[in-house]
Amino acid sequence: MSQTDFQHLIPPRPSHYIGDEWAGAESLHDVIDPSNERVIAQVGQGDASLADEVMNVAKRAQKHWAAQGHRVRADFLQTLASIVENEAEALARLLVTEQGKPIREARDEVQMALTMLRYYGGFGYRQTGQTLALEGAGRTGITREEPYGVVVAIIPWNFPLAMFTRKLAPALVAGNTIVIKPSEDTPLTSLAMARLCQQAKIPAGVVNVVTGRGSVLGDALVRHPLTSLITMTGSTRAGQQILKAAAERIVPVSLELGGKAPFIVTESADIERAAKDALAARMLNCGQVCICNERTYVHTSVYDAFMEALLRHADDLTIGDPHDETTVIGPKVNASERDNFLDHVARAKSQGAQVAFSGKAQTGSGYWVSPVILTDVDTGADILKEEVFGPVLPVVAYTDVDDVIAWSNASEYGLSAYVYAQHLPTIMKLADSLESGEVYINRIGPEEINGFHAGWKRSGLGGDDGERGYQTYVRTKTLYLDYTP
Ligand code: NAP
Repeated sequence: MSQTDFQHLIPPRPSHYIGDEWAGAESLHDVIDPSNERVIAQVGQGDASLADEVMNVAKRAQKHWAAQGHRVRADFLQTLASIVENEAEALARLLVTEQGKPIREARDEVQMALTMLRYYGGFGYRQTGQTLALEGAGRTGITREEPYGVVVAIIPWNFPLAMFTRKLAPALVAGNTIVIKPSEDTPLTSLAMARLCQQAKIPAGVVNVVTGRGSVLGDALVRHPLTSLITMTGSTRAGQQILKAAAERIVPVSLELGGKAPFIVTESADIERAAKDALAARMLNCGQVCICNERTYVHTSVYDAFMEALLRHADDLTIGDPHDETTVIGPKVNASERDNFLDHVARAKSQGAQVAFSGKAQTGSGYWVSPVILTDVDTGADILKEEVFGPVLPVVAYTDVDDVIAWSNASEYGLSAYVYAQHLPTIMKLADSLESGEVYINRIGPEEINGFHAGWKRSGLGGDDGERGYQTYVRTKTLYLDYTP
């Protein structure tokens, strides 16, 4: 298959997917291949009137969809999974082209998406609800899970396919319809998935994809009177804006936001494994992952050994064409993300950090940056506080475990943390003390489907995946029965 064999997945002309139809778009936006800055396609830029149109379509479809029953809905997800599997390589190539991640990672993302569809496809076959023993004879209670109605899903650019399925699968199986607004940087994957939903014959209006700016179209969807639930993955800044807007109508909101994961390498760690994983957890997707290792804390007794192994592995970071099978680091997603990254690294250097490693820069067009490893980083430096979406790995030595706990928890974020140790009491002390929704012990991500991906503090509200994630997409109704004659 060639690198561009995804053309059949994207709409032939700029359009939004609304109620099984491809609605033409007037105002247009270029989608850029970040590896060479070429325009791949154009998509529509919807506004408030488009939001109103799509919300009405999704609302009209919802009652009928909910009435179909769990198993019928689940079977649609399984059918979609089979279609996605058939198009796996084309979807992976599309991900590489519009987002810039290396092909091997793109294939992993397709597998993540398939797992999500199949896992929640299975939810249609599980029993739901409870019976309650009520006070007094002849009385009983029943709790039922009910869909909310129309879910608005706002997704980021770093996992355009996995975020689409993470929201769509539980929302649909629960009986909701959905309106998805992808990031302006990566709308094509969502439009491609809309095509595949059409092939899966998911009824009209159940899945809708509209494209446009977050501050215009996204905001209009969030504020729309027919929106019953908002689920968003993205930055803490945008999450706050959405939460404020949703407060007007008291609409439930689930937010998966930024992170600043500490990666703690203790005296008892397997150093070779820790060094390899520290690098992988930082460099994945060119450092553009919410659970990336953002600050590596290494015990002084193993610091030299760790640095030796880390720098050795860093030599294997091949930067280049993301379609190439050997590439480890592709381009940043866009120019402003690249410039932000360069600014973070420059500031760290001006605050005293030393460059222990700098990869070979790719030249020519494209949003290229070099991976960097920093040492001698002051514990108060900005690079240890602000989320940095890029391949920079600052290393800090520590001697007292209580210090490293305090530094880790001093962050406003609390999404994930990593602990490398063989000594169980140390592992458990860290796991008990770290203020984050996920702790990876002697392993790195990605998170798994039956876990619960949820940030603490400013990393989010609610969460996705697993049984608990499913609960985001249902509300409860309690029936009180009295059957005394
Ligand atoms: P972003 O700028 O917050 O955008 C995310 C989405 O929100 C985009 O579709 C964006 O639209 C939209 N949006 C922005 N402002 C909005 C508003 N006022 N109302 C409605 N929608 C709005 O984030 P990003 O740069 O795409 O993604 C990177 C961020 O996502 C990082 O902070 C990362 O940590 C976080 N993230 C978190 C997780 C997690 O699971 N916790 C996973 C992945 C990423 P446009 O950009 O198209 O205008």
